[in-house]
Amino acid sequence: MSKAYIGNYINGAITTASGTRTQYVFNPATGVVSGQVGLSTQADVDTAVRAARAAFPAWAEMPPIRRARIMNRFLALMNEHKLRLAAAITAEHGKVLSDAAGEVDRAIDVVEFACGIPQLLKGDYTDQVSTGIDNWTFRQPLGVVAGITPFNFPVMVPAWMFPVAIAAGNTFVLKPSPTDPTPSLIVAELLKEAGLPDGVFNVVQGDKEAVDALLGHPDVMAVSFVGSTPIANYIYETGAHHGKRVQALGGAKNHLVVMPDADLPKTVDALMGAAYGSAGERCMAISVAVLVGDAADRIMPMLEARTRELVVGPGVNAASEMGPIVTAAARDRIRGYIDLGVTEGATLKVDGRGFQVVDHTDGFWLGGTLFDHVTPDMRIYKEEIFGPVLACVRVNTLDEALALINSHEFGNGVSCFTQDGHVAREFGRRVQVGMVGINVPIPVPMAWHGFGGWKRSLFGDMHAYGEEGVRFYTKQKSIMQRWQAQISKGAEFSMPVAK
Ligand code: NAD
Repeated sequence: MSKAYIGNYINGAITTASGTRTQYVFNPATGVVSGQVGLSTQADVDTAVRAARAAFPAWAEMPPIRRARIMNRFLALMNEHKLRLAAAITAEHGKVLSDAAGEVDRAIDVVEFACGIPQLLKGDYTDQVSTGIDNWTFRQPLGVVAGITPFNFPVMVPAWMFPVAIAAGNTFVLKPSPTDPTPSLIVAELLKEAGLPDGVFNVVQGDKEAVDALLGHPDVMAVSFVGSTPIANYIYETGAHHGKRVQALGGAKNHLVVMPDADLPKTVDALMGAAYGSAGERCMAISVAVLVGDAADRIMPMLEARTRELVVGPGVNAASEMGPIVTAAARDRIRGYIDLGVTEGATLKVDGRGFQVVDHTDGFWLGGTLFDHVTPDMRIYKEEIFGPVLACVRVNTLDEALALINSHEFGNGVSCFTQDGHVAREFGRRVQVGMVGINVPIPVPMAWHGFGGWKRSLFGDMHAYGEEGVRFYTKQKSIMQRWQAQISKGAEFSMPVAK
């Protein structure tokens, strides 16, 4: 059993966490321990923040176009190393390789966006706000900023943060999930190879201790978080308490509405990928299908048949459509929700409990699971399960579907499948959710549009990446300037107005 030590990356070098605490890292397909990640102490976090603070003045002074050129080299390296990164994701997360490569592609999109930072940082200017006086605004970086990220996208979610943050002139400390810590070190290596100065990007591995050290550190100016809602709430409140700018993206329960006029075979394809892709461990996974009118009886047999046919196996097998669950604990939690759904009275159409893969019996397996006749009072409807479990709720009208979705505590993503333009328009305008798909099951916005949910799916007012990301990682400065020979009438004590 290999237990390679997985360390931190501080000031351009791999380092060992100073404490003694470590956590095993598993290959979820085999259940075998593949490494041991060091869990950083407050002292390790302080070392990383100091390195980032020391690197900040020179990095912030570097003209944006030169920072963009480093991002451009990094972009090329991310493309060259796409398969290596994808393999590292699959090894520790379990998702199938093609999906992992897709994750890297979506990370690359944000790097590409960040290459446009000179344009994004361009300020505005007003000539002659008063006689001989001009006024302009521009944005400057904050200083050291931190990112705290979840297990489910170990490359893409950090890339929602650091490319924009560092291109804008900040220095960065990333605290990835200890469940799949290796990809962040590959990213660090590629940034160095691209020419990023030491200290601009740092990685501290760890858990709550490292997170709390970042939240309380006086030199951390802003915190971006992505993870579950209770922790997002905690990060938002604690970060704000310490005077930091915070964006904290939380959990989800994403609905897909199937209207009676929807193209049902295509809708089934969409539901299969969106519910079971990445074993449902996506914040934009569809976990509730809202079946409107007679769509329910027509789609259910198709959905049931396809769920039974789902090919579940190791992520490295090209034939696998769905890999294992990330950890044994997560698998047991999801199994518990399936037990609960049965107790609550939902109809279990396809049962993924007890699913096994030959030759991989120690892997963390679950099959695709399908419930019909789920009702809004059930916990399997209300709570985020974060696994390959699709709950189908039956309603009679679009209004009922909207009322259901709008009363849910989460508001991350939503989708509506229909062939009626008016229904689509009404749905898009009336639904209380941050990211909406019309005949698109997983509407993750592109890099220049920004990502974020509503309600308890996001704490803070700025979405991740896109122009909101640039605003989050910068502060506006306004300069008013006069260079003419002064017409001095002496001191003026009234409010200055345009003259
Ligand atoms: P998580 O909340 O357990 O962990 C996220 C991060 O917080 C990790 O870095 C973890 O080490 C840290 N953390 C965990 N417990 C902590 C504590 N008590 N105090 C301080 N820090 C703590 O989430 P996860 O299980 O890694 O990821 C899955 C969750 O992330 C799901 O709820 C999913 O919906 C959510 N997610 C949301 C989005 C989004 O954009 N809204 C995207 C991806 C994932």
